[in-house]
Amino acid sequence: MPEPQRIKRAGDPGPAGVMQAAALDGHDDLMKDVLERLPQGVVMFDANGKVQFANRRYSEIYGLPPEHVVPGITLEELFRLRSGSATLEPKADHLCRRLREAVAAGEVITVNFTTDDGRNIHCINTPLQSGGWLVTHEDVTQQHQAEKQIAHMASHDALTDLPNRNSFKDQLDHALRFNAEGKLVAVMFIDLDNFKAINDTLGHQIGDELLKAVAERLRSCMCETDTVARFGGDEFVVISWALDKPSDAALLASRIRDSILEPYDLRDHHVVVDASIGIALSPNDGTDAGQLLKNADLALYSAKGSGRGTYHFFENDMDVRMMARRDLELDLRAALVNGEFELHYQPLIDLEKDTISCCEALLRWKHPRRGMVLPGTFVGLAEEIGLIDRIGEWVIRTACAEASSWPGEVTVAVNVSPIQFRNNNLVQIVTHALASSGLAPERLEIEITEAVMLERTEETLSVLKQLHSLGVRITMDDFGTGYSSLSYLQKFPFDKIKIDQAFIANLPNEGESIAIVRAVTGIAGSFRMKTTAEGVETERQRAIVASLGCTEMQGNLFSAARPAAEIAEFLSSHKSGRQAA
Ligand code: C2E
Ligand code: MG
Ligand code: MG
Repeated sequence: MPEPQRIKRAGDPGPAGVMQAAALDGHDDLMKDVLERLPQGVVMFDANGKVQFANRRYSEIYGLPPEHVVPGITLEELFRLRSGSATLEPKADHLCRRLREAVAAGEVITVNFTTDDGRNIHCINTPLQSGGWLVTHEDVTQQHQAEKQIAHMASHDALTDLPNRNSFKDQLDHALRFNAEGKLVAVMFIDLDNFKAINDTLGHQIGDELLKAVAERLRSCMCETDTVARFGGDEFVVISWALDKPSDAALLASRIRDSILEPYDLRDHHVVVDASIGIALSPNDGTDAGQLLKNADLALYSAKGSGRGTYHFFENDMDVRMMARRDLELDLRAALVNGEFELHYQPLIDLEKDTISCCEALLRWKHPRRGMVLPGTFVGLAEEIGLIDRIGEWVIRTACAEASSWPGEVTVAVNVSPIQFRNNNLVQIVTHALASSGLAPERLEIEITEAVMLERTEETLSVLKQLHSLGVRITMDDFGTGYSSLSYLQKFPFDKIKIDQAFIANLPNEGESIAIVRAVTGIAGSFRMKTTAEGVETERQRAIVASLGCTEMQGNLFSAARPAAEIAEFLSSHKSGRQAA
């Protein structure tokens, strides 16, 4: 930038500061002192538009040598000094004219400049009674930056620096407005599966690192014009526009999922996480942002409900199903407080002794309007919304208390959800329930499914061992339905295997089921485990399972589950568990 020109004036008074202050003829020293100390640049013009006074701060702001800003120079000359050019630029010329007009009209006028080095200057031009005017110049760069930062913070997520819900909405509006005719806009809700468990077990720092890494991967899956946002927690949302057909969205969803699935190395932890994705497409699933978001959310719910690790497109009846689910959820939250749960007990028969050896506690929800609700309807939901811990604790306590009055040989079996193994207080809950009921630990059986063995194996095994060391028995429930890995049987010395009723239902007609039942009783026998055939409904099935080596049976043939009061009576009428049938 060329050196600003010095404009010589007749009677140019000596050195800078003094000169300028001296230019305020007729004002006292105090006034000059005040003006020189102001943090703003101040310039006073007379009625002819000539500088009467300029403080040193003014020269500082524009990087001018103070001795060049002298009284008597015109507004236009001042602009030339500032631009470092001998001619007045058209913009400056226009501004000068505008300012003079405003002053003549007694109008206050504000002007914002950006200097060559990128600073923001805010000027206020105020007409004076003398016919001249006063200009204050304030360097507002920091203020601007702070405002920009605040605006960024208001529209971005602090952890990942992705747009947040507020700015996402604007970007979706934009995409919907400018999307080309005939093309699709996809909105995808992405939710990490079991993120809470990772956060709880590995700690929040690792959880945060994971979210940042996921954000990075999502960005890398998308085009420049697409949007990736985080709504909070482990909930990400993306917009992709100008798509030709729904299968383009499906491809993108698979790519996103694959990318999230790649393992993460976070501070010495090897983490693998899957994602569920809900997709809504405009215009079919909605033409405004609110509707699309709602429908993508419903689709996500559906994806999660169907076992996670997948993507679902929105479908019209999801709304209705969702409302029904919400209703059920609300009722379920109130059920424990309202005392709507009760336990029914189904006897298990020792096939060799022909006695009742155990009763399985089966949860029932006596709903004031819905009637008796079975666990198949609500246990999954209770697990999803985090209620299963409290319900499960109630089940353990109640089962122990009710069984403590039964004949001494009869044990009680309680179903425990995988979620209850994630919280580290299961052993404590069981210990408590046993102590307060006075039930001997050997009379309590905990039934777990293979799903329990899939998660956090080390921790789970430790909990199982602790329960075992209390004297509590451990049963593998529904064996044969899930992953049916025989390796679980080697990992932990189960006391009992319950063969799922699906196999028993096929007896006697299906050779494969017979083979499976025989194989399981064979393995169990060699591990000294008991085997229970579930869902025995006919005499024929009873005879077959007995001949195949099952040690126990359970099913409607002998008795369905009965309320607590009834089972107590039933047990005593069966003479303390002797002579079952
Ligand atoms: P499960 O542990 O395998 O329980 C056996 C299920 O089979 C029970 O269903 C029982 O009523 C049913 N059943 C018994 N005999 C027969 C039969 O001869 N024929 C047929 N068709 N069914 C029979 P229920 O009570 O509906 O329970 C379903 C599942 O819900 C249970 O399967 C268990 O996994 C779960 N559950 C029950 N109570 C609880 C609980 O307190 N906590 C948890 N986490 N889950 C529970
Ligand atoms: Mg069970
Ligand atoms: Mg079962």
